[in-house]
Amino acid sequence: MKKIIFILFALILLPISIYSQSQPYVILISFDGFRWDYANRGISPNIDIMKKDGVSALSLRPCFPTKTFPNHYAIVTGMYPENNGLIANSMHDPYTNEYYKLSDSIQVRNGKWYLGEAFWETAQRNGIISASYFWPGSEISPKYRRPKYFKRYVHTRAYKARVDGIINWLKLPYAERPHFLTLYFSATDDIGHKFNPDSKEVNGAIIKEDSMLGLLFKKLKKINLYDSTNVILVSDHGMTEINKDRTVNIQSILKDFDVEYQQGGPFMLIQPKPDEVNEVYQLLLKNQNHFNVYTKANIPARFHYSNNPFIPDIIISADLGWSLTTDKSAKYMAKMKTGGNHGWDNNTLDMQGIFFAMGPDFKVGYKTATINNIDIYPLLCKIFNISPRSNIDGKLEDIEFILKNR
Ligand code: AMP
Ligand code: ZN
Ligand code: ZN
Repeated sequence: MKKIIFILFALILLPISIYSQSQPYVILISFDGFRWDYANRGISPNIDIMKKDGVSALSLRPCFPTKTFPNHYAIVTGMYPENNGLIANSMHDPYTNEYYKLSDSIQVRNGKWYLGEAFWETAQRNGIISASYFWPGSEISPKYRRPKYFKRYVHTRAYKARVDGIINWLKLPYAERPHFLTLYFSATDDIGHKFNPDSKEVNGAIIKEDSMLGLLFKKLKKINLYDSTNVILVSDHGMTEINKDRTVNIQSILKDFDVEYQQGGPFMLIQPKPDEVNEVYQLLLKNQNHFNVYTKANIPARFHYSNNPFIPDIIISADLGWSLTTDKSAKYMAKMKTGGNHGWDNNTLDMQGIFFAMGPDFKVGYKTATINNIDIYPLLCKIFNISPRSNIDGKLEDIEFILKNR
């Protein structure tokens, strides 16, 4: 009898244990504003480990506009900003007259702005626990749209504490332990804006972030998870030098029109009065110098930037390194000594980000050309062997060749 009970137990427990053991681990790390070529400066030994033992892409192509929130959210949803809802770092809902901006934590946590489904939600619907030590979109309501474990964003949070946070989650008892985790650092973006991509200060930020990767590897080894964890390192966009002499004041061109200006710098969104859209567009077209102007109807399809009610009628994309201003921001720019920015056309070289991946599911020492950030969501689904949402823009076939043949 005892024997029969034992066999019955074994029959029930075996599939459960096989199932739980087969869940992979993935840590998705972002170094904000880490330009594609920063990893080739010979100052990032831990990225070099990922190159040697994993997959390295020539670059990671971001979406337009090459800004932080649209792209971090594109990475976890597999959707272009026009479809994932985050068309910029700040937005205006003309129907309710609500505004979204990064410094407004109430709106940043308001799920109404975030369309699509982030990977952590897809994962959790499939019984995979997720955790986030910062990621745009990880704090939103309702609760089921967030990772089970998450942190409210604190820009000044010590970098080592972020790594420790990840390790502490991985030390949880198996049944409570997350298998998909995100980690975020902003030094390359912070310093890249203040100085410029070729400054010694940016090199310092590269070294600092790379050392956090080293610390993570060391701690993963200590808890015996180094060999079984997939680490994916990405950035949301690159960075380029700006100069106060390379500016175009759009307001001075449109001085006779009462329009709403949104954004500025690398790109600008303009909402004229409904009966003046064509007149404003034609005037900008006539003055098109160091920028390209489009209407929502004629913007080239490759921008994927029209299918969203919050995108205004006119979109201006500046030439790389040029900044679009209004009267107010022109004064601010005039005082600028040096600096960097991002937000330009996502096909420009300087706006490209990074993609490195290492772990049991990735090929070893494998190099690929540029990959698209929207393809990461279907890649994650493939690694965890779960179905992606059917309405995504990313394509598994464009990225799955970097996985080991299983
Ligand atoms: P930007 O360079 O303007 O595209 O935005 C970068 C900034 O976004 C960073 O310096 C952070 O201050 C901010 N940021 C990044 N992640 C988050 C987050 N999860 N919540 C709120 N703000 C964030
Ligand atoms: Zn960014
Ligand atoms: Zn930035």
